[in-house]
Amino acid sequence: MTVSADLAGELTQLVGENGVETRPDVLHRLSRDFSWLSPILTRDLRPVTAAAGVRPASVAELVAVLGFAYQRGLAVTPRGAGTSNYGQSVPMVPGIVLDTTKLSGIHDIGKHDVVVEAGVTFADLENALAEHGREVAVMPSTVTSTVGGFLSGGNQGIGSIEFGSIWDGWVRELTVVGCVEDPAPVVVSGSSMNGHLHAYGTTGVIARARLLTAPKRDRTVLFAAFDSLAAATRAGRKLMDLPVPPRAIAIDDQAIWETFIPHDGHDGTVLLRAMLEVGTAEQGRTATVADGGRVTAIDDAAVRPMMSSVYNHSTLRAFRSDRGLAAVQIRGSAIVENEKEVRSTLPGSRIHLDGNAPRRFGKGYSGLLLSNWVDDATLENGIAALRAIGVVVVNPHTWLVGSHGGLEDYLAAAAAFDPRGLLNPGKLVPQCR
Ligand SMILES: Cc1cc2nc3c(=O)[nH]c(=O)nc-3n(C[C@H](O)[C@H](O)[C@H](O)COP(=O)(O)OP(=O)(O)OC[C@H]3O[C@@H](n4cnc5c(N)ncnc54)[C@H](O)[C@@H]3O)c2cc1C
Repeated sequence: MTVSADLAGELTQLVGENGVETRPDVLHRLSRDFSWLSPILTRDLRPVTAAAGVRPASVAELVAVLGFAYQRGLAVTPRGAGTSNYGQSVPMVPGIVLDTTKLSGIHDIGKHDVVVEAGVTFADLENALAEHGREVAVMPSTVTSTVGGFLSGGNQGIGSIEFGSIWDGWVRELTVVGCVEDPAPVVVSGSSMNGHLHAYGTTGVIARARLLTAPKRDRTVLFAAFDSLAAATRAGRKLMDLPVPPRAIAIDDQAIWETFIPHDGHDGTVLLRAMLEVGTAEQGRTATVADGGRVTAIDDAAVRPMMSSVYNHSTLRAFRSDRGLAAVQIRGSAIVENEKEVRSTLPGSRIHLDGNAPRRFGKGYSGLLLSNWVDDATLENGIAALRAIGVVVVNPHTWLVGSHGGLEDYLAAAAAFDPRGLLNPGKLVPQCR
């Protein structure tokens, strides 16, 4: 689909000349994400380059664009920073990319929460909150990604030991706009948000969010080398109970950590990093040593680098040194209880774990099992074997909404907010497979 002069003109009337993007190279970039991390998505996902990009600069413009798309039957793929790794922000049907990055207002920084527009990045929000002695409660390791993109495509990250996942109460309220005949912002809260969180933009576009904030704390990073995953996870679990919970804990096999952390004395097969509140660092050291850890550094300067080297950044960093890897998302105590079997389920396996406490699982670890990519059957058999020994597995090699559960909520919300099926088509209902 190429955008006709008429269509570009009509979009310009809605959002102004600067709000319409028609340059082919930019449109191509706006139509891709990080799904290339998956060999299966790289092969099977059929991205379409959008005919036009539209950047509303206000909620009123967003409403106008969605009303226009509804009238014209135009497919709309919402987009923040485009860092999603399941193909969530890749259009599968010709139409427009709705780039939310100009919706960058930070409003109403209160004592305990903040109201932000969808295109605000976590890096900007963190800076703005710091001036008020507050910080973001939970953010992804992609700190330059947007609030709307995280709430629609991510689920947990830095801060999740204390505040859990996006479903655990720190998202107070969403303002959602549907692709309907006469759109208007709708405020949703409580369980009504279930149909919109992690929905890949298929059930309305998030215009604003009210998010809980946390007191700003000074932090440092404790590094500790261990000879076994079991000892490292035991120590990490104790750190999660410190009086001020760590903002992040990551545990990596050497084959992963050595791809992005200089050795600098970190010996041992497994490296634990814990982002601790400075006042708890010595308590953290004692707990770590008690479990056989060798504390190799406590370093304030490592806080920023750690933010961008946890969760899926371990995949990205390891992938950069070995393009032949594939990842599956894993969770649960069975990872360590059955470590030997876990490691034997897939060839060349290596483990990354993040400490977190989503409400439905409690304090523990989720992470990534990286392995050498062979073929679909090897991966599927590996996933089945992991499940058979009690590991919770989320398969990251699908672009379908609801693969993490909650499909009924999404379908109900889509019926109300997207009756013509124009929002990110192909993601909620697999018509494009
Ligand atoms: C290296 C790496 C590390 C990552 N780390 C984490 C992590 O720690 N935790 C985590 O949860 N995820 C992580 N992710 C996944 C992803 O980066 C995050 O979820 C990120 O917050 C997505 O934000 P974005 O602005 O890039 O969204 P995009 O990729 O632009 O969009 C994500 C999805 O949301 C939709 N969308 C975007 N904006 C809106 C809106 N306003 N309303 C409705 N729908 C919208 C899009 O259509 C798409 O389906 C990681 C990915 C990579 C590649």
